[in-house]
Amino acid sequence: AKQNGRAYFQFYVASIDQEIRDRKQLEKDLSQALTNHQFHLVYQPQINLETKRVIGAEALLRWEHPERGLVPPDYFIPVAESNGSIVEIGQWVLDQACWQAARWSDEGTPLRIAVNLSAVQLRQPSIVNDILETLARHNIPAGRLELEVTETSFMTNLSDAVEKLHRLNRAGISIAVDDFGTGYSSLTYLKQMPVQHLKIDKQFIRDLLVNEEDTRIANTIIDLGRSLNLSVVAEGVETAEQEYYLSQRGCKLAQGYYFSRPLPSKEFETFVKGFHQK
Ligand code: C2E
Ligand code: CA
Ligand code: CA
Ligand code: CA
Repeated sequence: AKQNGRAYFQFYVASIDQEIRDRKQLEKDLSQALTNHQFHLVYQPQINLETKRVIGAEALLRWEHPERGLVPPDYFIPVAESNGSIVEIGQWVLDQACWQAARWSDEGTPLRIAVNLSAVQLRQPSIVNDILETLARHNIPAGRLELEVTETSFMTNLSDAVEKLHRLNRAGISIAVDDFGTGYSSLTYLKQMPVQHLKIDKQFIRDLLVNEEDTRIANTIIDLGRSLNLSVVAEGVETAEQEYYLSQRGCKLAQGYYFSRPLPSKEFETFVKGFHQK
């Protein structure tokens, strides 16, 4: 047993050591990703289930690592948040998304663009001005931009977050609560926050029609949205049955692989044209 314990201990130390080295390497690579043009955005259509129109797109970040290939954002965003580089990366995302929205507008398809805003970005004192300045630079009306924030954004400094979101709101930018129901949801936040949309996380949609608890959670969020006058967006819709259930239940907006995966801008444009011709 003692032998085993020792072997395990050495293995354990070695693997932690390896993990620390991996993480250091990842941080180093991440710090060069912007200058080396390794990021790009893909766009996932958001659909109005009643009118069958594409109302906008969520911009999602992709990192093409020269050796590792595509690194998933769920893997590198937390690293970028913990070392602060998300501030610079997030500004690049915003800039790129606004540039794209301006191109769509030029081509006669003015669509709303939704951008994920990290809690770390929202904590920056200059964030409101940075966002407004970016819109102005690309000549995008504020109503064309939606910011997706998670419940964690409200936790560290509620009054600071409320004040900033109010300023963004007054300028005309709409706010969505992302991953709603997965964090420390509190109805107090919802009451104080100037938000217009709730996004039902895909974890509740996946088994929507097979798991009764998920059905109840989705129903509750839809009803909550209705009573607070917030529009509800279902994320991760993959089947016709899910779409049918949600639209019958009164959820007006949806995104998911059933309609389209997140797409590069040109393919996104083709998708929108084809979808509207159907
Ligand atoms: P999220 O904001 O909750 O984004 C939704 C995720 O669900 C995306 O994963 C999207 O590709 C995926 N998805 C969409 N439809 C379906 C579906 O029908 N089925 C399934 N299984 N998945 C679907 P992605 O692109 O890998 O992004 C993961 C997370 O990374 C995002 O979750 C968001 O939290 C974060 N993220 C991505 N881009 C950015 C960014 O620019 N800034 C920040 N701060 N976070 C970002
Ligand atoms: Ca999102
Ligand atoms: Ca989500
Ligand atoms: Ca998320």
